[in-house]
Amino acid sequence: MDYQLVKKILSKKKNIVITTHKTPDGDALGSSLALLSALNDYHSVHVIVPNEFPNNLQFLPLCEQVIVYETEVSKSNDLIQQADLIFCLDFNKLYRTHTMSDSLSESSAYKLMIDHHEEPDLFCDQILSNPSICSTAELVYEFLNSINVALNKNIAVSLYTGIITDSGSLKYPNVTSNTHLIVSKLMEYNIDHAYIHRKLFDSQNKSRFELLKICLNNLKFFKNETIALTYLMEDDLMSFNYKKGDTEGFVNFPLSIKNIYFSAFFVQFEDGIKISFRSQGDFDVNLFANKFFNGGGHKNASGGFLKHRDMQEAIKYFTSCL
Ligand code: 5GP
Ligand code: MN
Repeated sequence: MDYQLVKKILSKKKNIVITTHKTPDGDALGSSLALLSALNDYHSVHVIVPNEFPNNLQFLPLCEQVIVYETEVSKSNDLIQQADLIFCLDFNKLYRTHTMSDSLSESSAYKLMIDHHEEPDLFCDQILSNPSICSTAELVYEFLNSINVALNKNIAVSLYTGIITDSGSLKYPNVTSNTHLIVSKLMEYNIDHAYIHRKLFDSQNKSRFELLKICLNNLKFFKNETIALTYLMEDDLMSFNYKKGDTEGFVNFPLSIKNIYFSAFFVQFEDGIKISFRSQGDFDVNLFANKFFNGGGHKNASGGFLKHRDMQEAIKYFTSCL
């Protein structure tokens, strides 16, 4: 990232769009809203996300300004086509923006990527990418520092949310002393970290627990009980009035069982089966997702998709890949 050039570009008022991946999580939305807070005093800035975000992120400052592409397609397309500058946050392959990807690739705006996934595609003019860093929010912090934008409380709340979400509350192996230093700096803005944790983790819908019960019942073990898989069917989602975010983190539960190093979670949707993988230690689920499930992500957290709805077939296929 050429920060001098970025500073020069931002020295004149610009139409800016900030976007992120489908089904935005705390890092995707936190990073986007931090950047919105940082740039919207001087520029015309819009955050456009591909689809709705979970209710438990509705405490994030300025989230009421977020435009959901799926529900406001023509307004979003206009903003994207009029943009001078587009920030692509927390994704590095255009298809991760789902139905927005055509509009983004057609736009002639100058594009900047800030992201922490492996192997970025080259669709942006400048890239700040570091797969060894646990959250995009940490990179946004570095970006804002490097272009001399002062932080404020709203930015701090959003970046803190991003870091906590993607670091498993600061427990994943890729957390560094710098992560803690950044968190310490953010705490200086008097953010209410206990409130943020309550919002993120202790304000779940009851339907989440009904779905969790089903997941626990569906648990299967492989390879001498070192690998676990569970799943949900579309009917389960409908019976319990599934909302985005209800199943967040389910894939992690089996990893709390002794000896489990690889956990898979399959969810049947209308158009296919969405897959999440998590691992502990050396097993690389990014490679696994990439090789067998049209996906990717990180070494210990990845995802993919199967374009059919046959769950038993999908599980059989999974076992054949082990
Ligand atoms: P999740 O299981 O939370 O949906 O995704 C876990 C990680 O895998 C995230 O870092 C996400 O960016 C990545 N990921 C999920 N689905 C896909 C996919 O279809 N393709 C790629 N390249 N990465 C994915
Ligand atoms: Mn992220």
